[in-house]
Amino acid sequence: MSRLVRSAIVALLILVSGCQANQAANLLTDFASEPALEPTATVFEEVIPPTPTVVLLPEQASWEGSDPVPQTIPSPVSDPLRFVFPTPGPVPVSAWRPPLYPTPWEPTLYDHFYFSRPIAADEINWPLADYRYGGMFLPGVIHTGIDIPIKVGTPVLAAGSGRVTWAGYGLYHGVEDATDPYGLAITIKHDFGFQGDTLYTVYGHLSRIDVLVGQYVAAGEMIGLSGDTGKVTGPHLHFEVRIGNNNFFVSRNPELWLAPPQGWGILAARLLTTGGNLLNGVTVTIRSKQTNQTWYVKSYHQGAVNSDPYYRENLVIGDLPAGEYVVWLPYEGTTYNTDITISPGMVSYFSFRGKNGIKTEFPPTPTPIFTPPVETNTPTSTP
Ligand SMILES: [Zn+2]
Repeated sequence: MSRLVRSAIVALLILVSGCQANQAANLLTDFASEPALEPTATVFEEVIPPTPTVVLLPEQASWEGSDPVPQTIPSPVSDPLRFVFPTPGPVPVSAWRPPLYPTPWEPTLYDHFYFSRPIAADEINWPLADYRYGGMFLPGVIHTGIDIPIKVGTPVLAAGSGRVTWAGYGLYHGVEDATDPYGLAITIKHDFGFQGDTLYTVYGHLSRIDVLVGQYVAAGEMIGLSGDTGKVTGPHLHFEVRIGNNNFFVSRNPELWLAPPQGWGILAARLLTTGGNLLNGVTVTIRSKQTNQTWYVKSYHQGAVNSDPYYRENLVIGDLPAGEYVVWLPYEGTTYNTDITISPGMVSYFSFRGKNGIKTEFPPTPTPIFTPPVETNTPTSTP
């Protein structure tokens, strides 16, 4: 190999190690812009590994007829005996959860857990409890998705396979707009649907997008990094499921579409007044008989949210360990309660109709939309 080629290789390798140094510098900037991580940022700076230096060993360089093999020898650390202990982080908000059911997960005719979680299992990958689908944070602004509370820079994964149909600012109006409430956002049109309708998923408030419109992505593929762009009060991933069209008004509750942890279930309910109107924004209390752990969940507020055609629900809470529970809900000065079993891997259900109280029977099986005509001898009869 000529001296010229050899020096070209050395130059290239030095360039590569230069890129790594830049990446490390970028990482530092990211961490520095994250206030919650302030205390650990300095520690991180000190434990950065030294940039590897690439050299050719003299004996390899002198070998005849074979190309020299580049060796990576770490440069000496300035103070090798200095240990830096990381600052303890905040206590985790939740313990370990079982692995998720594989997708698509369809335990019954009416359950359709087609999507995997858009955040990997080593991070919080479940919705913020007090701002679920149908929640209202500002008067008149309804939540059409779920928020997964994760720090800026967490990898965001495609919830299912499909093609990217939006990547950038302006999703809400569908035109480029730096002030868009979704911030930097991605939409995937999935290559599978539900009962003849196309499915879309939306990923909002990102800090970085790694895909282009038209690009095909596989389920679980990294599509960008989470962030706090758009209308947010803090970093999180906004995740939405849309059906039929890619617009704000056709969302469905993602907790009825994301595969639950194995052995855990989902509770859906339809809450009505005695007169049969939807009960909006009512807080339901759920307590596990085994552990006494208590959850609070609100029924949907009025707005651009949609129910599943079978459950016609206006309340959903996912990720409940299977077991026996009690639910309570207040109505016109009385508290109603019932026992309910949360079944693993599927939706458990109750309905409430004001003074008629709570029922735990599932909705009736839907009648077919098309009833074949009764065969008669009259050829002119119409269905
Ligand atoms: Zn959101």
